[in-house]
Amino acid sequence: MVLIVVGVFLSLVLFFVTKRMERLQVKQDIYQESRKIFQDVEDALYQNLGVLDTLKVFYLSSMVVTRDEFKTFAGHFLKKFNNIQALQWAPFVDSGQRSAYESEIRQEGFINFQITERDSQDRIISAANRTGYFPVHYVEPFESNKEVLGYDAASSDTRLQTVINSGRQGPAGDPLSVSRKKGNNTDFVIYVPVFKGEGTTRNEGHPAGYMVGIFNLDRTFEAIQRDLLAKKLTLRITDESADEKDNGPVYASVFEKGKVNTDKRYTATETLFFAGRTWTLIIEPTSEYLLSKNNQQPFMLLFCGFLVTLVIAINFNLKQIEKEHQGLVLVQNEELKYMTSVAEKARKDAVEYADRLEKSLKETQFAKAELERSNKELEEFAYVASHDLQEPLRMVSGFTQLLEKKYKDQLDDKAREYIHFANDGALRMQTLIEALLQYSRVGKKDTAFEEVDLNGVMAQVLADLDFSIKETHADIKVDPLPVLTVNRAQMVQLFQNLILNALKFREQDKAPVIAVACQKKTEHWQFSVKDNGIGIDPRFSDKIFVIFQRLHSNKKYPGTGIGLSLCKKIVENYKGRIWIESEPGKGSIFHFTIVQK
Ligand code: ADP
Repeated sequence: MVLIVVGVFLSLVLFFVTKRMERLQVKQDIYQESRKIFQDVEDALYQNLGVLDTLKVFYLSSMVVTRDEFKTFAGHFLKKFNNIQALQWAPFVDSGQRSAYESEIRQEGFINFQITERDSQDRIISAANRTGYFPVHYVEPFESNKEVLGYDAASSDTRLQTVINSGRQGPAGDPLSVSRKKGNNTDFVIYVPVFKGEGTTRNEGHPAGYMVGIFNLDRTFEAIQRDLLAKKLTLRITDESADEKDNGPVYASVFEKGKVNTDKRYTATETLFFAGRTWTLIIEPTSEYLLSKNNQQPFMLLFCGFLVTLVIAINFNLKQIEKEHQGLVLVQNEELKYMTSVAEKARKDAVEYADRLEKSLKETQFAKAELERSNKELEEFAYVASHDLQEPLRMVSGFTQLLEKKYKDQLDDKAREYIHFANDGALRMQTLIEALLQYSRVGKKDTAFEEVDLNGVMAQVLADLDFSIKETHADIKVDPLPVLTVNRAQMVQLFQNLILNALKFREQDKAPVIAVACQKKTEHWQFSVKDNGIGIDPRFSDKIFVIFQRLHSNKKYPGTGIGLSLCKKIVENYKGRIWIESEPGKGSIFHFTIVQK
């Protein structure tokens, strides 16, 4: 911001300085031009004077100049210089010689000749009496000027009159001049005094006469005018010696009206002293001149200044941004480094975690394999044990039954009671072993699968349990069941266990209501066995499926604790699962699935 302000300030300073320098240069140019114009004006005027001086020398050299001689000589100049209006010779006539002089001229043929002057209405009248006169004696061109013949050249100009009246006031032989405005034109009259014996003797007293030249100023300055137009300058000349200065300038150059310049700063003035007059030359440029001089440099400089300021400011800003950017990049680099290290650590952690996971997976797989192996061994053992135990157990129970039957009467009550216990224990053990055998058989490779209509399975189960159903007044509803590729015996065990439990774990004094339902899912069948029994605490939802796990005493609810674990094993054999949905006192729903492709 500061940079821009300084830049703009410097540009403005530069602009104003160059503008001022340009103005000074223009002023200097105009001043030089004005010197030249001054010279030209002076030259033109001296050329006029030169004509009169030549005439004077001619007069002085020939002593007597006839009218014809004057006509010839003056005619030569009139032809040569078109600015000459008239050339005159006006000799001094003393008042005493006036009538003699007048009659002399009349004798020349100018019969009405007299010394004249102009009255206040500019009419030519006979000159009043004065100490002396300078009447126009010769005038060329004569025809257009004949009325001025005899006109007292000194009569109209007070100053000239004064000089003449007082004898000699100015330096001897100095020319005098007057300017006469005639409409738009100004005639400039130069009086060159001629003294008798001039050049050899001292000029004393009044001059013998005046060589008078009337010049048209416009034509005198014709060449200057052209020059001014070309240079697009204007010239005005005011006569400081004039009595009526308000009469306007004695000369004003012509220029195109629209191009007048009002800026007075460029006005140059020169003072010219000529033939007793003081002229002020006012030289001014036209607007066109100023326009031509007005180069675009200051504006260019201003523009360049602004541009440079802008470029510097942008550059500075860019550097600043670059710096900030670099700072940012550094920060970003740091952040990047940090993030890379974090990512690296995370990667290491992930690898470590994956390693650990793999290890634990291997461990799990190993443990699973171990478990499977030990399960297998257990199953083998259970199978072998139960199978092998069956025979001696059958023997034990057979012989105790035989003992009870044959020796019933010989034994006392105590002995009969012991035998009954032994019998009962053997029976229970038989049931247990059978159940264990069933359990260990499930999943064996030689299990046969076939298409089994589960409706038939259910019919068999209900028939097998008919006694219990009737005894408990159970109400059992069964949905239509599908035909599945399964092992029939396993399906009988599965449904029988669940329905048997539903009948067994009933509320006291409440007939069991059992509903068997099934649903086809995308890849499996889902079955449910619902009862209105005692239910279980959800805390034991998993425990009941573990072999030999029971929630009640054998006295209250007799059982082996194998039923549900057998169900689980059967279901898992079909890649299904089994679970319970129950609350104490609110009945239970056993769900299980069987996958069928
Ligand atoms: P058992 O029936 O021989 O006791 P199970 O494995 O069949 O063994 O059942 C395990 C335990 O699960 C049962 O002792 C009982 O506490 C509970 N149980 C099973 N079925 C039901 C049921 N329908 N209602 C309430 N409890 C049940």
